[in-house]
Amino acid sequence: MTPTHEHLSTTGHWIDGAIVGGNGDTIDVVNPATGDVVATIPAGTAADVDRAVAAARAASPGWAATGPAQRASIIQRLADELSARNEEIAQAVTAEMGAPITLARLGHAGFPVAVASATAGLADEFPWTEEIGNSLVIREPVGVVGAITPWNFPLQQVMTKIAPALLAGNTVVLKPAELAPLTARLLAEAASDAGIPAGVFNVVYGSGRVVGEAIASHPDVDMVSFTGSTEVGKRISVVASATVKRLGLELGGKSANLVLDDADLDHAVNETLANAWTNGGQACGAWARMLVPASRHDEIVRMLVTAAKAYTVGDPTDEATRLGPLASEGQWSRVNGYIERGIADGAALVVGGPGRIPGLEHGAYIRPTIFANVDPDSVIAQEEIFGPVLSVIPYDDEDHAVEIANSTIYGLNAAVFGEDEHALRIARRLRVGQVYLNGARFNPIAPFGGYKQSGNGREMGRAGVEEFTELKAVQR
Ligand code: NAD
Repeated sequence: MTPTHEHLSTTGHWIDGAIVGGNGDTIDVVNPATGDVVATIPAGTAADVDRAVAAARAASPGWAATGPAQRASIIQRLADELSARNEEIAQAVTAEMGAPITLARLGHAGFPVAVASATAGLADEFPWTEEIGNSLVIREPVGVVGAITPWNFPLQQVMTKIAPALLAGNTVVLKPAELAPLTARLLAEAASDAGIPAGVFNVVYGSGRVVGEAIASHPDVDMVSFTGSTEVGKRISVVASATVKRLGLELGGKSANLVLDDADLDHAVNETLANAWTNGGQACGAWARMLVPASRHDEIVRMLVTAAKAYTVGDPTDEATRLGPLASEGQWSRVNGYIERGIADGAALVVGGPGRIPGLEHGAYIRPTIFANVDPDSVIAQEEIFGPVLSVIPYDDEDHAVEIANSTIYGLNAAVFGEDEHALRIARRLRVGQVYLNGARFNPIAPFGGYKQSGNGREMGRAGVEEFTELKAVQR
């Protein structure tokens, strides 16, 4: 049974600590597992953005004047408030974008708590002031931050922005993805209960074209922090340029996973599928390209085919499900199109394939898919698919592997499997912002962001807080 989330429908935005009515136009939030409308949100306008920005501007001096220690303790309270709402957040994410409920509890609802807590913990050590020669260098808040976020990890992508932005003393206007906006409502409630003052955190719902561009172009927004596709990142850069505002871009990826000849293959295969297919492959850092020695290609493909059998596709509310539907019908068409393209371009389909899954035709369900012997220059190896589609690419030697890994427009992250020092030597040659060696775990205080067209900034940890500060040098 699919629970309804009508109670999370809202007729208004969250501005200056209160629900503020929209103009009556609404956007439906659709459950991709069933096609049912589970909630509605207002379709915001430029006037709604004006109101939210005015509230954020008015709250800015007061919030900036509180010390980092006080802001850190409020952010820790926010983490606690969200932790108490774990089940409600998880249910909302599962309903709006189809994440399996176990992943929703642990990841979608759990990671943001870890990020908020870790960010609060940075306040003591952060260099708020520094002596350089005869200068006192002060890190100050940028001012009003506009945050524009995607649907794939809806609360996590918001938290990696608002926790550091608030810690640094900024105020925020958030536009969550219209496809997965329900946790923003829960976040606003949690922020209020945590003691974040009215106007410091505001939410305006709506489309990217209208609300997103109104934020990006607003003369009183000092910085836009955007996570989403490279295409939209470029558009936001153009729109924001008229006011020369600070821009933080976290964009797409096409991560390579390099399996070296001294890798533990069982481990590499299991970790690869777990990563590439988590969240239905709808992750910016998904290891979508597995680069393997040509001499081991067939053996590794056989191991992948066996390991793939453990991935059940089904109802995301069932705790046994590892892969739910994709987040929307639009996503389904896009991913299905890429699977068809891979076949047309001559890649060897060894797992999955295009089309609806018998018995699951009612939702945006797709087969997890593996292509072998993929040409590294082909469309499926170069473009971000954002679905559970793994391309296995054979390489001749390590120089060739590094060349393939670095050959896309993206540079978000990568993985290397092999003997530790060997893997580290390869990691240094990759033009990416993060590298995972032998399936190492995620670190919520390590800088996260991309080279090349994967972005121009870093989130999380100390680097993430620095993003949301201006530098002032006082000579004396
Ligand atoms: P998207 O770019 O379509 O949308 C992201 C956000 O931008 C949404 O809130 C959307 O409404 C808004 N938007 C759309 N057009 C806009 C415009 N013209 N002006 C202002 N805002 C606009 O991305 P998506 O489909 O929601 O998310 C998937 C993409 O996000 C993938 O490319 C993925 O790699 C990327 N992503 C990157 C990271 C990262 O940290 N680098 C993390 C998660 C997702």
